[in-house]
Amino acid sequence: MPFFSISGSDFVEMFVGVGASRVRDLFKQAKENGPCIIFLDEIDAVGRRRGGGFSSGGHDEREQTLNAILVEMDGFEQSDQVIVIAATNRSDVLDPALTRPGRFDRQVQVTLPDLVGRRKILEVHAANVKMGQDVDLDRLARGTPMFSGADLAALINEAAILATLGNQDHVELHDLEEARDKIRFGRARKSRKIEERERVATAYHEAGHTLVQAMLEEADPVHKVTIIPRGQAMGATFSLPERDRYGYGLRYLSATMRVLCGGRIAEERKTGDISSGASMDIQMATNYARHMVLEWGMSERLGFVRYSGQDSQEMYVAERDYSPETARIIDEEIKRLIDEAYEATRRMIDEHWTKVEAIAEALLKYETLQSDEVKVLVDGGTLDRPTVADLLSAESNTPSPPTGADASDDDEEPTGDVLPSPA
Ligand code: ZN
Repeated sequence: MPFFSISGSDFVEMFVGVGASRVRDLFKQAKENGPCIIFLDEIDAVGRRRGGGFSSGGHDEREQTLNAILVEMDGFEQSDQVIVIAATNRSDVLDPALTRPGRFDRQVQVTLPDLVGRRKILEVHAANVKMGQDVDLDRLARGTPMFSGADLAALINEAAILATLGNQDHVELHDLEEARDKIRFGRARKSRKIEERERVATAYHEAGHTLVQAMLEEADPVHKVTIIPRGQAMGATFSLPERDRYGYGLRYLSATMRVLCGGRIAEERKTGDISSGASMDIQMATNYARHMVLEWGMSERLGFVRYSGQDSQEMYVAERDYSPETARIIDEEIKRLIDEAYEATRRMIDEHWTKVEAIAEALLKYETLQSDEVKVLVDGGTLDRPTVADLLSAESNTPSPPTGADASDDDEEPTGDVLPSPA
């Protein structure tokens, strides 16, 4: 299928009017070649909210280009078989006109690639560059957690430049490693040490949730757990409700609140610090506690009574028929429920700390664990599966040696130099 692409940043330095006519040409060509795809990269370069007050030299040009895009997108006929896709890292600054129905009305979040994804992306970019014998893309994929597709493309490109500067006719491992460090520094603007520390904190945070969830029968079973960031969250523990719930039992609620507390507690015990990573957990636990007290009659002090009133973020504001005294008790009861859950969870995590460690270290190694693997670790076992990168290399190096021996050999290798070794 024909594919037309242009990047928003290409328009920025153009003379007034050129960008708009480029857009018209592009859409005209696409319509003549349908079915086809138009891809507008870095749409935010022209698609920022208009009238935002920051006008630069390119302002008029930007606006004219944006208008041209809007006009073209509205001008499709039923018979035009053109799909228009745009990409941005800043969907929050886009002009609302762009995301209206009939324009860019579907949003797809592209998360950072995992190990397999990174390996495949590296393969694509490495195909255009001559690589030395010592280059091991699996290893490189393992050593680039949190890299985006663009970072990986830049890594290969940078390594090729370094090789050229060194008068080599091919890229060697040390070029790739130097390029990787350069990009990581430029990208994150934080040191490797800090990045590694955050990864460890995330792994222990998720391990805390996972342990509590796996050990409490009343909680939803663990589905999988990952430390690959998605959206704003650094990691995630997924549960698998066994059936749709139409109501909540007290035992289920207190188990769920403990699961929510587990992340912060494990993270704090490992790092000696606390982070904003628990904000969603805190919000959810507070919500449960509020409902338990206000609507579900689960506080003995307040009894079988529904307390209507205004439930602000900071405290409960009762309607006039409740005394300030009652409002105070409501706030106390919400806090008590959460405090009790927190203390019980702390005891549990202290008691089973070696299991939390086992889960966290497995997360640092494999990034994602499935429910059966969590069960093995909670039961005191160890995982001996090879990492994804091991499997991929076994696949590509056919004929493969006996897989059992191969896998255990690879397992003893350090898991790439950015990953902390198991404590
Ligand atoms: Zn959490």
